Amino acid sequence: MHLETQCLHAGYEPGNGDPRALPIYQSTTYKYDSTEHVGQLFDLSVPGHMYSRISNPTVSAVEDKIAALEGGVGALCTSSGQAATLIALLNILCSGDHFISTSTIYGGTINLFAVTMKRMGIDVTFVDPNASEEEIQKEFRPNTKAVFGETIANPAIVVLDIEKFARIAHANDVPLFIDNTFATPFLCRPFEFGADIVIHSTTKYMDGHAVQVGGAIVDSGRFDWTCGKFPMFTEPDDSYHGLIYTKDFGNAAFITKARVQLMRDLGSCMTANAAFLLNLGLETLPLRIAKHSENANAVAHYLASCPKIATVNYPTLEGDPSFDLAKHYLPKGCSGVIAFTMKGGREAAIRFIDSLKLASLVVHVADIRTCVLHPASSTHRQLTDEQLVAAGINPGLIRLSCGLEHIDDILEDIRQALEQV
Ligand SMILES: *Cc1c(COP(=O)(O)O)cnc(C)c1O
Repeated sequence: MHLETQCLHAGYEPGNGDPRALPIYQSTTYKYDSTEHVGQLFDLSVPGHMYSRISNPTVSAVEDKIAALEGGVGALCTSSGQAATLIALLNILCSGDHFISTSTIYGGTINLFAVTMKRMGIDVTFVDPNASEEEIQKEFRPNTKAVFGETIANPAIVVLDIEKFARIAHANDVPLFIDNTFATPFLCRPFEFGADIVIHSTTKYMDGHAVQVGGAIVDSGRFDWTCGKFPMFTEPDDSYHGLIYTKDFGNAAFITKARVQLMRDLGSCMTANAAFLLNLGLETLPLRIAKHSENANAVAHYLASCPKIATVNYPTLEGDPSFDLAKHYLPKGCSGVIAFTMKGGREAAIRFIDSLKLASLVVHVADIRTCVLHPASSTHRQLTDEQLVAAGINPGLIRLSCGLEHIDDILEDIRQALEQV
């Protein structure tokens, strides 16, 4: 079925007389007839819910929907996008391991990689997403176990050459992780271009209404974890009587291990209420993301024509560095997020933002309402100037997330704010 249909129907099929809308199973626990059955659940030898930290029927329905939308074999919802990234990587990386990430990624992810995971003994090397395959290959070490990038980088709006990164990762027998938050599966399905694991901050377009923080990990089921580099998938897990993930769960080894081992131990689960709200967002995702993209395309062209604007980053603009990549990876649109700089630099950016009347200044993107942010003084203020430049962020950069208001009202607000600069 088409994505529009799956957004409405995948994951939950009510039987005769069942509620039409996805029910909220507000229960931490599940009742059983026998201790024998509970024992089997704990051995993972029969499917079923044990405890809502590990799985819950409302959350499961949404996980199945997201897996269907991305074309994966399974998904795991998490309490936030940050938790999704951390759990996905810790599922294959240990202290002493190394991985490669593009430098143009979300500021929170840079902190996670460069500060917190480093402290755990996991080392990262950041690479320019536009570096050649040879240059990126030079960064591989014997202990390199993963490659990470974002489909549309937040906030620089750089489109990733997913096929290039998949080729490099696979030539080194390691998986490619793609944060597909901004694109959503409606604009791009990274598995079709060779990605192995997809991550989402569902807080953004998937929810879309700025009501619930959440995340998701999706497994393509295609990476060969028996290639020799990932013994945790092929050697017995003592915490489950020696089961072997690749043997017992086949091509769902990655997502099963993430759930029954890491979600069990780290506990950053999505709640049933959060999943219910996320599901409401997912039902209208195709309509919203198409309109967000259409409005952003119009705003980007308008900004590009304004004399007070120095640069506009939006991949549908002729001459944008990501123009060709976007044609290939994002033919249906490039989301609602635009990055631009003012000729007057940091001061002009602040004056512009403070003069907006319709667009709200918020620490968020991908909302139905137009919103704006100055990364250098907010989400990325912890980065040094060098790191800012590596992440594609000029101190005067403005991130504008186009909402679903009438395009003329969005343009008028920008026009009057530019007049104040
Ligand atoms: C927001 C965001 C995250 C982090 O997600 P949270 O839900 O805020 O934890 C990760 N990646 C990208 C691209 C994001 O925009």
